[in-house]
Amino acid sequence: MNRVRLLVLNAALGPLDYRLPDGVAAPAGSVVIAPLGPRKVTGIVWDEGRLPGDAIAFERLRPIVEVLPVPPLPEALRRLIEWTADYYCAPLASVARMALASGGALGGPAVMTEYRLSGGTPERMTAQRLAAIEALEGEQGTIRELAGIAGVSEGVLRGLVNQGVIEPVSVAIDRPYDPADPDHAPPDLSPEQAAVAARLVAAVRARKFAPFLLDGVTGSGKTETYFEPVAEALRCGHQVLVLLPEIALTENFLARFSARFGAAPVLWHSSLKSTERRRAWRAIADGSAQVVVGARSALFLPYAKLGLIVVDEAHEVSFKQDDGVRYNARDVSVMRARFEGLPVVLASATPALESLHMAAQGIYEKLDLPSRFGGASLPQVRLIDLTQEKPGSQRWLAGPLIEGLRDRLEKGEQSLLFLNRRGYAPLTLCRNCGHRFKCPSCSAWLVEHRLSARLACHHCGFETRVPDACPECSEGDCLVACGPGVERIADEVRGLFPEARIALATSDTLNTPERAAQFIAEAENKAIDIIIGTQLVTKGFHFPELTLVGVVDADLGLEGGDLRAAERTYSQVAQVAGRAGRGAKPGEVLIQTRHPDAPVIAALADGDRDAFYAAETEGRRSAGAPPFGRWAAIILSSEDEKEAREAAVRLGDVRPRLEDVQILGPAPAPLALLRGRYRYRFLVNARRSANLQAVLRDWIGSVAFAPGVRVGVDIDPYSFV
Ligand code: ADP
Ligand code: ZN
Repeated sequence: MNRVRLLVLNAALGPLDYRLPDGVAAPAGSVVIAPLGPRKVTGIVWDEGRLPGDAIAFERLRPIVEVLPVPPLPEALRRLIEWTADYYCAPLASVARMALASGGALGGPAVMTEYRLSGGTPERMTAQRLAAIEALEGEQGTIRELAGIAGVSEGVLRGLVNQGVIEPVSVAIDRPYDPADPDHAPPDLSPEQAAVAARLVAAVRARKFAPFLLDGVTGSGKTETYFEPVAEALRCGHQVLVLLPEIALTENFLARFSARFGAAPVLWHSSLKSTERRRAWRAIADGSAQVVVGARSALFLPYAKLGLIVVDEAHEVSFKQDDGVRYNARDVSVMRARFEGLPVVLASATPALESLHMAAQGIYEKLDLPSRFGGASLPQVRLIDLTQEKPGSQRWLAGPLIEGLRDRLEKGEQSLLFLNRRGYAPLTLCRNCGHRFKCPSCSAWLVEHRLSARLACHHCGFETRVPDACPECSEGDCLVACGPGVERIADEVRGLFPEARIALATSDTLNTPERAAQFIAEAENKAIDIIIGTQLVTKGFHFPELTLVGVVDADLGLEGGDLRAAERTYSQVAQVAGRAGRGAKPGEVLIQTRHPDAPVIAALADGDRDAFYAAETEGRRSAGAPPFGRWAAIILSSEDEKEAREAAVRLGDVRPRLEDVQILGPAPAPLALLRGRYRYRFLVNARRSANLQAVLRDWIGSVAFAPGVRVGVDIDPYSFV
């Protein structure tokens, strides 16, 4: 048959039919360029009969322009794209886009120019040139990258190019990656670890769908353990995908990977350079990328011969994408494993309630690592009741926590203070007139960042200089910071212990791989006494000298009041607590709270995870919340308040009345204004018996909205703003 139906990468268009020119083959999955009016579009040849639409007479079909020279998307991936679009009520084209991730991978030049030292010396040596030459020993990259490494301007390096001191080299972008060796440096596993590893290795050999929940306490060696099935997949010649939540901070992971396998894995994340993206995409598609370590977007890539998926820190909220296609990479991973027929491992010390429920039902096989590796014990946890132990005015650390810090400083051990709030203060106001600094495009306060002397919106990225005078009443020098962020805690610690070496660890300070690597090296070399950090420091780190963790405000996460607030607080505090006492010295955790009796706080104090999950499960059961019922959010937004409101009212007027689906709303969203768009929301709660997606599609599809209105559907929402 030489007619094809294309899934075109444009969500506004439906499937389109084309003709294949004589002699051109394009099996399902082929990526092609096709004419569309005067323009061209990229499309994927889809399986016959799977995309709806009327057939057009063959004579009227236009021929496609070109079949791109990349492997066709495999069938399992095509089924995954369909499933994801269907489940999350997203356009097929938007999901397919994630598989093709990189326009540049599909075409473009295969060669680029990089630069390196030639060995020559410049006619005139300056201090800057000398410094640059020393810094660039053994380095190779674009002028811009080298300027970054050497800390000089690109102009300085161009001067050196003109003098022949730096020479251009052509680099094949698609050059192969260094091979990983499954037997490079295998560890001696503990008997506990070995048993779990053996089960996973057997599953890799069996190569059929098998979902596992690897439930291991912090420091139990989950990584070492799941590296064994990774090694087995390599021996079988299969590819492996390891999904990690926070790709910016994987230095530690990468070092461990290289030590185990003798080569770095292939990285995939949103800030790859376009050449790196192309190289990785092509190696993934032709099967030569052996192990891919990536953020959630790595999940939709066209692996040629995948043999294993690992989702590390699988409970992490950042696996849920909150814009575009609102999918949860943890859940889609399991579906991908099912379509591909392979094992998938969800690893966590604090699994999501949904995952534990699947294990309890026997759908996931649960593997346990109940103790820390090498005989380290889990830390002692103690609550500090802030209603009794009051910090001083404009202070946030209570007496016992300060004493704990002092004690560690005297012993030469490390402490970590955790507060999940970037910046100096979450709210700034004018002492004179009470004016509060608010984002112009969001209903949110601006957060003061003293390090950069800015007020910033954490929702849309808006930033402005901290003004000298109040914009409302013009009074000078009148701004007051309200409440603490990590920068303010750092100030307090500096005031208490001027001699302590303090490091701030947030996405503002550790914003490049180099800075992250430097932070880790300093912490490991005992060049830091007190780390003050946001959720960035809650996972992955292993600092043997760290013996005290202080949670500055355990109640913070509970304030949002959404469905998962307690679970998120539990896992966040348990994870950060898990950084303490991982080496030979025992750890202690001090949790500051105003609600010591709240069930989640009490469970943390008692280390009683089972009790917490049991209570939480019952709460969810009686609320009909996941995993017992399903939630969905519908958000209608427009730049025009009235238009958004009217759209919400119209949709509300035609809501379906069903026995097993309850629809709440419309109501202004908690973030009623976001990035300049006014937002209204519905919350839908469905019983398991309902076909939630079909109900939503019919309902939303029955209303024709004004062009300025956007309708977002969020299935299994994590964010309730
Ligand atoms: P988790 O991810 O479960 O918190 P990690 O995988 O980070 O634990 O392991 C904790 C520490 O123990 C790491 O430094 C790791 O290298 C070490 N470790 C774990 N298992 C072994 C082993 N079998 N042999 C040597 N070191 C191990
Ligand atoms: Zn904003």
